[in-house]
Amino acid sequence: LFIVLEGIDGTGKSTQTKQLAEWLRAQGREVIASREPTDGPWGAKIRATAATGRLSAEEELEYFLKDRREHVETLIAPALAEGKVVILDRYYFSTMAYQGSRGVDPAEIRRQNEAFAPVPDLLFILDLDVETALTRIGSRGDTANEFEKHDSLAKCREIFLGLSGEPFVHIIPSGESPEAVQERIRGVVDSR
Ligand code: C5P
Repeated sequence: LFIVLEGIDGTGKSTQTKQLAEWLRAQGREVIASREPTDGPWGAKIRATAATGRLSAEEELEYFLKDRREHVETLIAPALAEGKVVILDRYYFSTMAYQGSRGVDPAEIRRQNEAFAPVPDLLFILDLDVETALTRIGSRGDTANEFEKHDSLAKCREIFLGLSGEPFVHIIPSGESPEAVQERIRGVVDSR
């Protein structure tokens, strides 16, 4: 079973990923929880440059593809082949959203990724309005930089929401308590 959690910054993906993994482990499932960008060499490079924004969208995309190829080969594919549950905090839908928000065509990003990256069984998109998300991450959205952040997160959200309607995609409103959000996610996983 391959589960992915996505959403803009501040939607609570890492908390939800952790709780979902704990719940499945308590049921005796073998669970591998991971995240992207990874903690591998390419992921570390991405995290280091994300803060400074020095890479072009194309370069960034290239780094994400390298990071993901390694992630798929060394962790995701082997774990799935062994029948483990894999839960990811971000995957290629984030690349569609973030690098898409920087001007790369999201459909093209998707095509490049699906050439080598397995499609998840369940994709949860944690959805929150941008103002609330910015407040949660401690940005008020009233300086030039924060305004830009608001603008780009709004584009990311739009790209994420554009995935709704596909059979494996579940949009989870994430303005409620973490417990309520987790309940909804578990409900969907349970019905699988
Ligand atoms: O998930 P996490 O918050 O650790 O992600 C690190 C940062 O990388 C985020 O703030 C996000 O804005 C950025 N990111 C990105 N492009 C992606 C995925 C994440 O710019 N494809």
